[in-house]
Amino acid sequence: MHTPMFSLEVFPPKRDAPVGTIYDTLDGIEDLKPDFISVTYGHGTHSDRTATARIANTIVNEYRIPAVAHLTALYSDKAKIDEALDMFENAGVNTVLALRGDYIDGEQVVGAFEHASDLVAYIRERKPNFTVFGACYPEGHYQADSLDKDIEHLKIKVDAGVTHLITQLFYDNDDFYRFCDKVRAAGITVPIEAGIMPVRGAKSVRRMAERNASRIPEHLDALLNRWEGNTEALHNAGILYASEQIADLVAHGVDGVHLYTMNHPATTRRIWRNVKSLFNE
Ligand code: FAD
Repeated sequence: MHTPMFSLEVFPPKRDAPVGTIYDTLDGIEDLKPDFISVTYGHGTHSDRTATARIANTIVNEYRIPAVAHLTALYSDKAKIDEALDMFENAGVNTVLALRGDYIDGEQVVGAFEHASDLVAYIRERKPNFTVFGACYPEGHYQADSLDKDIEHLKIKVDAGVTHLITQLFYDNDDFYRFCDKVRAAGITVPIEAGIMPVRGAKSVRRMAERNASRIPEHLDALLNRWEGNTEALHNAGILYASEQIADLVAHGVDGVHLYTMNHPATTRRIWRNVKSLFNE
């Protein structure tokens, strides 16, 4: 039996957050010894493009944990992508999660990269020493005509040079298993890490599910309805739900689990305490 990977995701603090916020997050998760920590990339033309590289630098050089830098394509020209890749390289980070990004109302896309696969090919050409990860969607991307069509596009992205996939959040493992079967049948052989986002608030789960076209299964809906008005109870139920999802994934031989920390180390730690021993077998 192989040991699945275990990785975490953090995001750059909002502009008005105190400077030390990211240290609080990293201090809270460093001793979990994840295989890597990935750092999201602000999107659109107004985001701070240097934050991801700065935080990834901190993770690698101060916390001595491998980092993966996210990078989005839609609102960047080639010069901006080159600049970001150089910043990552100077920070000691040569693994990039290459993403298209979402369309933002009222903002003009640049047009250098239409799909994530275009960015993947570009990074492979500019930085042949870089490792490129990609995103995937167990229930299909919200703009895709069908899951099968989305997987056809995923194959193009992997063939362009992606060696590792991380999924969008999902709440029903059966959706993930069905997806993996289809992906393997399509000839995609790279590892697939399952993205798990713990439930913290009922409203945010429903909002995220709607935005990503993710299904809320009946047993999760029951938890949301029962404890919608009790933050602490729902938080506890969410930790149990995520822990059970992870236990089931590991039992089914998942390649890895990528936990979205949402910069809440206490939640991450409680989940890890529940599942840690499952990763050591
Ligand atoms: P793509 O792979 O380009 O797919 C997008 C859509 O285009 C799909 O419907 C696909 O089927 C279709 N498509 C792809 N290739 C083709 C083709 N050749 N022809 C026709 N159609 C095609 N967003 C951020 O802004 N910052 C982040 O840090 C960030 N991190 C993320 C991390 C993970 C693990 C995930 C799952 C998502 C993340 N996102 C992030 C969100 C992501 O940017 C959006 O989901 C976006 O809508 C799609 O990005 P993609 O890279 O999957 O796009």
